[in-house]
Amino acid sequence: MTTEPTAPPATAAPVPPATPLPVLKLESTGTRRTRPARHFADLDTDARRAAVSELGLPAFRADQLSRHYFSRLESDPATMTDLPVAARETLAPSLFPTLLTPISAVDCDGGTTRKTLWRAADGVLAESVLMGYPDRATVCISSQAGCGMACPFCATGQGGLERNLSTAEIVEQVRAAAASARDGALGAGAPTRLSNVVFMGMGEPLANYRRVVDAVHRICDAPPAGLGLSQRSVTVSTVGLVPAIHRLADEGLQVTLAVSLHTPDDELRDTLVPVNTRWPVREVFEAARHYADVTGRRVSIEYALIRDINDQPWRADMLAKLAHRHLGRLVHINLIPLNPTPGSKWDASPAPVQAEFVRRVRNGGVACTVRDTRGREIAAACGQLASTAAQRSGADPAIQGG
Ligand code: SAH
Repeated sequence: MTTEPTAPPATAAPVPPATPLPVLKLESTGTRRTRPARHFADLDTDARRAAVSELGLPAFRADQLSRHYFSRLESDPATMTDLPVAARETLAPSLFPTLLTPISAVDCDGGTTRKTLWRAADGVLAESVLMGYPDRATVCISSQAGCGMACPFCATGQGGLERNLSTAEIVEQVRAAAASARDGALGAGAPTRLSNVVFMGMGEPLANYRRVVDAVHRICDAPPAGLGLSQRSVTVSTVGLVPAIHRLADEGLQVTLAVSLHTPDDELRDTLVPVNTRWPVREVFEAARHYADVTGRRVSIEYALIRDINDQPWRADMLAKLAHRHLGRLVHINLIPLNPTPGSKWDASPAPVQAEFVRRVRNGGVACTVRDTRGREIAAACGQLASTAAQRSGADPAIQGG
């Protein structure tokens, strides 16, 4: 049983005349996908023991497997040579099926940004981006193949939702990134330990709620139960699915919540983030406040700055006022210079306009920074992660139409 994301409203939001919106696909595309195979990383510690016992192996093998997978970052039983050969042969298909196959990997920023395009067993595509900084290594991961939220400035939103990724498909992106960083993929001098995970790749994480929360446990539980990252180093970003934000607040986690606001007024937000017609700005702020109250964590407000669309001084003032009123000091505004997406005429704001926007938000008493966007030239930056038809045909004929 899959939890389908909340469908955006059936009626299209009004289109501003100067900025025609591309045609949006609100529905899932293609034929119904098969459910991904069960994988070790789908299971919690108890379920791993049960699964291993069901295969006729002693339960202690589950702990051994956890050390291989979560501590040594191995996913192929063939490499787990301290297991009997017969056990490895049983385990490979039943608990360690290949979920994601890398189709391409490109890098930029002097090798410190690496985008990987993955193909799942049923042919859907997802992307992750590993970024090395002097003090940390961050992976940006996908929670869905495609996205159903239809934000007109985001490349992923243009293709519609294909399907939710499974917990293990999400965790596999993180394990692979951690193994790459460890093996020096980010180059000399870069950190070799993956420290941060952001759910800012393809998809709306809170529309795939249970699998994402389970993945957070696998990512953060102490080794060997999980990969052992700090919950505070994990960021879950949402368009503002209000009931799911409340639910996440009560989950007992310490992850950072990021809310993609993009404008403080409902009229424009109905267009930029279509789900706003369901949960307007005020409700989004109230949910963010609940999250901040329960967790004590500062909420991050994401705001893609778009030339002549949402970059006016009055919007900066209104944003600061609302953020301050609802969240006090428990807020940080993150401006993202708009990254170009195919077919969109929208553009980033000029530098002086951006500087004035930052100044006004800060004047309103709210912390505000501009995100250093990575990966623009390899289409790996925010909102550029889309598996285009060109990539499909260039990658592998077997996945065309898949
Ligand atoms: N669906 C989630 C997570 C994925 S997007 C969400 O919307 O929060 C991660 C961030 O990139 C979001 O803030 C999103 O609005 C932003 N984004 C999307 N397209 C963009 C673009 N073209 N330029 C800059 N930021 C973009």
